[in-house]
Order: sequence, then structure tokens, then C-alpha cells
Amino acid sequence: MQFTSKLPDLPTTIFTIMSRLAHKHNAINLSQGFPNFDPDPVLIDLVADAMKSGYNQYAPMQGTYTLREAISEKISSLYGHVYDPEYEITVTAGATQAIYTIISTFIHKDDEVIILKPAYDCYEPAINANKGIPVFVQLEGDDFKINWEVLKQKINAKTKMLIINTPHNPSGSVLGKDDMKKLAALLKGTNIILLSDEVYEHIVFDEQLHSSASKYPDLAERTFVCASFGKTFHVTGWKIGYCVAPKTLMHEFRKVHQFNVFCVDHPKQKALTTYLKSPKNYQSLNLFYQYKRDVFLQAMAGSRFKFTPSKGTFFQLMDYTNITNEADTIFAERLVKEVGVAAIPVSVFNMDNQDNKVLRFCFAKKDETLEQAAEILCKI
Ligand code: PMP
Ligand code: GLN
Repeated sequence: MQFTSKLPDLPTTIFTIMSRLAHKHNAINLSQGFPNFDPDPVLIDLVADAMKSGYNQYAPMQGTYTLREAISEKISSLYGHVYDPEYEITVTAGATQAIYTIISTFIHKDDEVIILKPAYDCYEPAINANKGIPVFVQLEGDDFKINWEVLKQKINAKTKMLIINTPHNPSGSVLGKDDMKKLAALLKGTNIILLSDEVYEHIVFDEQLHSSASKYPDLAERTFVCASFGKTFHVTGWKIGYCVAPKTLMHEFRKVHQFNVFCVDHPKQKALTTYLKSPKNYQSLNLFYQYKRDVFLQAMAGSRFKFTPSKGTFFQLMDYTNITNEADTIFAERLVKEVGVAAIPVSVFNMDNQDNKVLRFCFAKKDETLEQAAEILCKI
């Protein structure tokens, strides 16, 4: 068969590579971001109940109305913006499908999409598959700040979308109120759609508040906010999330969504509707993961890795320049094979694969797993 690849240079995602390697070498897997502990049994029972009650056929294309209503209530109570469940909220097969569908709905050939690097790896292939042009801006310094001058220079008549991610994977940095205000000023008067990837919205540490784009009316009017129940309720394998946007944007999104996936898992939507109605189920997540971060960092205190504590997400960056000068991809591979701990080399997310000798460790793990991994890492 002859064909022309749409993504000729695209390798297999680093998450698959590292998790596979961890499995093969029986290493402790702190690479791919998923919990190694169980979700709340109450949530599991709610899914079983929904299945037993007959919710086993197609859900409505946009998601069940009651789940959209529960999402709307959650957002308005947290961020003060009311999204109309009828027109402005769609339940998706994880944030990944929301992101892919947003990009394929709006990006035409040669449209430019700005991505802030390092960036999670699902944005760029979606842009390329739709013949758009990814335009990169590197986040700067140890705290991964936006260089507003550089960002401004990248905006031109071809810019159709800007993608932000807060709390940020892989760096663990967060955007604050000032950043969001600057962003609103920068985008004012343009037709640029903002895609705000907020899958870690409930994982922000040290008493900081999450700055959702939906909090800022000037931004909300041009923004798709994407969220993931997988991250929030320790069920990454369920692949269920949602996106919210103003009616006109969401109307266009649903044209593609209905043929991209049509609808997503019905019994889980039923279960999540009930579960979401108890705010304590997501409000405690900040402290839950802050505790895990601290368990990991305290155990790593005696190591030769250098780090500043993550401000959000369940990822921690570690600089290994005190240990070796080898490339992060080589060091990560050696760590799995020879030491027995898997991490993600951050260069794969950077502009031109810039290698700052930093690895990303996932601390969404049982305390004993974190302590065991740290004990091994401290010996290097
Ligand atoms: N965005 C970011 C920044 C992520 O880390 C992830 C990983 N889960 C996703 C999107 C995808 O989320 P989901 O698993 O719900 O598709
Ligand atoms: N979001 C997860 C991470 O950053 C990975 C999800 C995936 O493997 N696609 O590790």
C-alpha cells in the first residue's frame, strides 16, 4: 500500500516508551502520570449502580444534561462564570479528545497556533495533522515564566489560537492573576481562540488559587477550558473529561465532536453526576497531593538532585547536573535499566529538544512507592 503520512516524523509518545521500559525492567514507574492507588470505592459503586440501573446505551451527544448541569454548578461556584449546560458544555473522552477536536474544528491550512514550551505532547501533532503551523515560545527561567514581549512578537494575522496549560505539565508552574490579566490585554481586539488546558485545576499547592481562564470575562469570551475527570478522581483509565466555551464556539465544536466520538461512556457520566455534587470530592485534592509532593521531596532531600518544589500538578522536576552531564534521554534510559526508577526526560517537551538536564517525576503514587524510589535515587 502506498500512502503519504500526515505525521511522517512523529515518534511514539514518550509516556508509552517510558512506561513500556519500566515494565520491561521491573522499575518503579514515576514516568507516565497516573496514580498507582485506587479511586474512591464510592465512585466505583456509583458506576456499578448506573450499569445495573440500565444506563448502558448511548448517552446524549453533548453529554448527559445532569452531568453538564453539575459541571456548570461546579465552575460557577469556583470561578464565578455561569456556562449554560445546554449550549456551552460538552462531555468528552478525556481532555485529549477535547483538545484534538478543538484544534481540528478551528484550524485550517497554514493557520498559526502558538504553543508555550515545554508543552504537553498532544497539541503539536493535532495542529500538524490539520495542516496548521505550530509556533513556539519558550517559557523562561526556573519558574517557567511567559516572556510577554516574545509572545507579542509571535502574534500576527495568521495566529488563530494560543494554547496555555495551568497548572503546567511538565514544569509544575502555575499562571497567576497578573498573567491572566496580561493575557487578556494581549488578546483583546483579536480573533484568537484561547485553548486553556486546565486538567490539573484542583492540584495547586501552598494555598495558591487556580487562575482559570473562565474567571476572567475578557478571556472566557474567547476560551475553551479543558478538564479531565481522570486527573481529578484518580481514574485516568476512564478517559472522561469535558470542555466549556461560549455558545458560538461550542456550536462549531459539536459539529466535529458528533462525528469524532458522538458521545462518551454513559454509566460513568451517571456516576460522576452524583459524585461531583459533593465538593469535598475535589476540594481535598490540593492537600492530598501537596502531602505526596512533600513526602517525595523530604525523602529526596539527601540526594544529589536539585529541585524547587512543584507549585501544582502531580509532577516534580529534578535537575541532575550534580550527578552527570549525559543527555536527559540517555540518563532516563539508564535510570530505568540500571537503577530501577523510571522518569520522563524533559527535553522531549522543549523547543528544539533543548536539554537542560532535568527529569520529570510523577508523585501520584502510594507513599511507600515514593519512599522506595527516593531511597534508590538518593544512592546515585
Ligand atoms: N493535558 C495535560 C497537560 C495532561 O497532562 C494530560 C494527561 N492526562 C491531558 C491533557 C490529557 O488528559 P486526559 O487523560 O483526560 O485525556
Ligand atoms: N498526562 C500524562 C503525563 O503527562 C500522560 C498521559 C498519556 O500517557 N497520554 O504523564
